[in-house]
Amino acid sequence: MTLEQWTTVDRYLTDMLVPTDSALDTTLQSSALAGLPPHNVSPLQGKLLLLLAQIQRARNILEIGTLGGYSTIWLARALPADGSLIALEADPKHASVARSNIAQAGLSDVVELRLGRALDTLPQLAAEGRGPFDLIFIDADKSNNPDYFVWALKLSRRGSLIIADNVVRNGAVVDAATSDKSVQGVRRFNELLATESRVSATVIQTVGSKGYDGFALALVTDD
Ligand code: SAM
Repeated sequence: MTLEQWTTVDRYLTDMLVPTDSALDTTLQSSALAGLPPHNVSPLQGKLLLLLAQIQRARNILEIGTLGGYSTIWLARALPADGSLIALEADPKHASVARSNIAQAGLSDVVELRLGRALDTLPQLAAEGRGPFDLIFIDADKSNNPDYFVWALKLSRRGSLIIADNVVRNGAVVDAATSDKSVQGVRRFNELLATESRVSATVIQTVGSKGYDGFALALVTDD
């Protein structure tokens, strides 16, 4: 199978299962126009995030790594009217584009976007007593994934769901000798999933328009 075939099948499934949506289309268009990298989840993955948040009956969500707000909008749409999503983003330009995309999607009232490096904003959230979150989506700089996992656990409760994207990295994850900091971060993150007794976790390999990668799902089973 090639990326071309995965992309064709992705388009076939997206056309069937993900209705055309002007707010999400606008988000991708304005992100591209602003020169943001196309590192958002795919439409099918966005819908997976929505379904997981709905299954979870999430009322409060934390997202680490927002880019132009594409996954943020998918996740925020799963929330009830009084729900909330805190989105963490380090890049001021990405945050500005995300704010405008979230506004045009009508979600400014439920989404709070915090600008800053997540390793600075996460301790602030904890100090403010925010959380525990029902769902935490980790999708920022992969080299810091191990620290994000530790923070995600601190900001969780029994029953919280922790999700992380890009944990396979085109198969590079099996290379124990890698010098790639992102792969090292993902390998350490996967080891934490395996050894942390408070979570039950799995990883699903993914293929599609975004190439070959993986989604990690960890259910917090103990406080
Ligand atoms: N979740 C987004 C989506 O699917 O639409 C994609 C996020 S993109 C893969 C990663 C984002 O994390 C980028 O916007 C990047 O600026 C941000 N980022 C990188 N390092 C960060 C850090 N230390 N703290 C917070 N955000 C960071």
